[in-house]
Amino acid sequence: GFRRARRLATQQVSEILRIGARAAEMKRAGLPVIVLGAGEPDFDTPPNVIEAAHRAMLAGETKYTALDGTPALKAALVAKFRRENGLDFAQNEITVAAGAKQVIYNALMATLDPGDEVIIPMPYWTTYSAMVEIAGGTAVTIACGEADGFRLTPEKLEAAITPRTRWLMLNAPSNPTGAAYDAAALRALLAVLERHPQVWLMSDEIYEHIVYDGFRAVSPAALAPGLRDRILIVNGVSKAYAMTGWRIGYGAGPAPLIAAMAVVQSQSTSNPCSIAQAAAVEALNGPQDFLTDRAESFRARRDLVVEALNAIPGLSCRRPEGAFYAFASCAGLLGATTPTGEVLATDRDFCSWILETAQVAMVPGAAFGLSPFFRISYATGTAELAEAMRRIRDACATLS
Ligand code: PLP
Repeated sequence: GFRRARRLATQQVSEILRIGARAAEMKRAGLPVIVLGAGEPDFDTPPNVIEAAHRAMLAGETKYTALDGTPALKAALVAKFRRENGLDFAQNEITVAAGAKQVIYNALMATLDPGDEVIIPMPYWTTYSAMVEIAGGTAVTIACGEADGFRLTPEKLEAAITPRTRWLMLNAPSNPTGAAYDAAALRALLAVLERHPQVWLMSDEIYEHIVYDGFRAVSPAALAPGLRDRILIVNGVSKAYAMTGWRIGYGAGPAPLIAAMAVVQSQSTSNPCSIAQAAAVEALNGPQDFLTDRAESFRARRDLVVEALNAIPGLSCRRPEGAFYAFASCAGLLGATTPTGEVLATDRDFCSWILETAQVAMVPGAAFGLSPFFRISYATGTAELAEAMRRIRDACATLS
């Protein structure tokens, strides 16, 4: 019979995808489900980007490209890092892959040996620990609760580092909490890393443009030039330019790491889609002013969601600095009984009860390693968000 490889023994399709599949099934059955599960902007890819893709196809850019990014896209990325992050990279310090997801995968496959440890602040994007394990490493998770603003502290970081630590994976603004670090908080973490030369920093900056209330997301590489030779920046066009389906992500870091990552990509997928790369060049070089308009529209949605959640007895939600997620606590509802006599014992119970009775899909905090919370992705129209909040409120009011 079929036998999975050992490296997949503990891996499964992500819970977020499973909840999405259940929501889609309910929709097909005619139920008015509101999906606040997936981490995907509801905006369209900008028309200039789509036109660039069309032009590229007509111009014959339909063949294999340079392995880890066309010279045109790498040039656009060199300019992006200079313009937006104040960082200078050469083209051989930049890599392009099929999504930020593949950049992270390449980096872990290129660097981890059995027993190597990767520190992951928790709650975290589930993919991080899964990829570390598939690559043969050991995920070392550190609980970063609401009391710390869901942020890693220098003390916790210091305590988690061992001689086997290879990476700290940091994602700010964060999926799932929306928490971000100001320059002072980042400097404190970087000071710890400075004392441990075996530890590299993977900085996932994919939500850098989605920040609120004047918050500025700073790249750690810009704060600690001395650590530049052990920082990998991970980013992509998915979230900023509403290009999730195009699958273009990129990384920037030391040339020897980038070269090792190219080996992984060369023997797996080769270059990312030539047409999507041409589209990404236009996204990065074209008009950028809509980014602030979109961030402003995400801010209005965040306020709507956070205020509505905090008005529901038993729920509470910290106001996030960025990304498009609210990470709310349902601690006050655990142990409550539903009208049909079920007891809500966990955040998973709460989310599946809300999905089945109120037809609102959310992801339990357990999926990100921290309970009892749930994540709402508010990258959805305000009317739908307001309706979802009413449904959650009305459902919670029936609990006893
Ligand atoms: N990093 C984080 C924190 C994410 O939330 C996501 C997407 O959900 C990604 C990376 C991957 O983005 P992509 O592979 O679409 O570039």
